[in-house]
Amino acid sequence: MTDWNAMSDEDFRREVRQFFETDYPEELRHLPHRPTFAEIEHWHRKLHAKGWVAPAWPAEFGGMGLNAGKLLIFYEEQQHWGVVRGRDMGVQMVGPLIIKFGTQDQKDYWLPRILSCEDIWCQGYSEPGAGSDLANLRTRAEIDGDDFVINGQKIWTTMAHDATHIFMLVRTDPDTPRKQQGISFVLAPMDQPGVEVRTIRTLAGETEFCEVFFDDARTPRANLVGELNKGWTMAKALLSFERIFIGAPNLAQNALGQLESFARGRGAFDDPVFRDRFAQAALDVEDHAALYARFADQLKRGETLGADVSMLKIWVTECFQRITELMIEAAGPDGGTIGPLQVGNVSVDVLSSFYKARPTTIYGGSNEIQRNILSKAVLGLPG
Ligand SMILES: Cc1cc2nc3c(=O)[nH]c(=O)nc-3n(C[C@H](O)[C@H](O)[C@H](O)COP(=O)(O)OP(=O)(O)OC[C@H]3O[C@@H](n4cnc5c(N)ncnc54)[C@H](O)[C@@H]3O)c2cc1C
Repeated sequence: MTDWNAMSDEDFRREVRQFFETDYPEELRHLPHRPTFAEIEHWHRKLHAKGWVAPAWPAEFGGMGLNAGKLLIFYEEQQHWGVVRGRDMGVQMVGPLIIKFGTQDQKDYWLPRILSCEDIWCQGYSEPGAGSDLANLRTRAEIDGDDFVINGQKIWTTMAHDATHIFMLVRTDPDTPRKQQGISFVLAPMDQPGVEVRTIRTLAGETEFCEVFFDDARTPRANLVGELNKGWTMAKALLSFERIFIGAPNLAQNALGQLESFARGRGAFDDPVFRDRFAQAALDVEDHAALYARFADQLKRGETLGADVSMLKIWVTECFQRITELMIEAAGPDGGTIGPLQVGNVSVDVLSSFYKARPTTIYGGSNEIQRNILSKAVLGLPG
């Protein structure tokens, strides 16, 4: 088995780059939407055969066992080459929790099924009235013999209509003094009476979001991960790496590259106001990349990141939004065109980039919440 961490960063990057550059299917590069599993199944099988489905998991569970520095390189190359993150909620979210808090039986049963995509997962955290303030969640799971009986509703559940299982935060004790207590982390099959999935059509015309309703749905008690009523602490344990991943610069860098080619083709640089705004966006992207490099170095040195990492997510997502607004502007009267616009040999879907940029400031902890974190934990301002 290859010890990736023993390689130099340059050699490792070269190996990852070569695979993504040559083996990744061209038609899937920089997909403008979240794919269904059927769309990417052949790519997933290739990754699985190579043993590269779960770069962050320890090798003993079928992962690549990458350390933080190598992991960043892997994700940087993945984004750079427009490689889809795939149906990775199993790999990114529930898998690490099972590895850290699951029983041996849970590890033996669920982890191989995540890697092979036999089970496809969605994340059931948000509810109407429990988004930023997640601890408000009301979906109940009551013990009945060997089962939990689940009642309630989840919302914004990405790709729930294409998932076989859901990992959820549920209220298992409604009578606790603090609302963060009494929450548990459970796994549940979607394919059963009492689970109803309704898709929500987005402005971009995609149906990637869903509402999920539970009406006396059941899941075995053996599907509780970690201790009963201790799910809150576990769910929080996942956040630390996500914070830097979500703030990676490629999102804005790729969009800036597209904007530059597109604007040149459309003659937008003849306009001094546009030139000025482009220069500002380019400088913002450079600033962000420098900031990201500082946090990445901290991780590579094995240090943990502080609350100030929230700056990355705010900065990159807001840059990304400004760049996509400039794309619409550069397109002039074609700015509202649905589908790709061809300029010379460049094809840019300006409207879809614009739509793609909108939710980035919301998911993974909205930018307002990130600003609250910065003001309290970094600047020490009163809450
Ligand atoms: C693309 C996308 C995919 C998602 N996928 C999933 C998924 O798969 N599973 C899942 O469980 N959830 C998912 N979500 C939900 C996401 O986590 C929530 O949308 C997010 O946590 C915000 O919650 P909310 O929508 O309820 O907004 P609210 O919490 O109601 O907030 C509304 C607005 O008020 C602001 N606000 C709220 N509280 C404060 C405060 N204290 N101070 C300042 N401002 C505040 C927010 O920043 C926001 O601008 C997804 C969301 C998006 C956009």
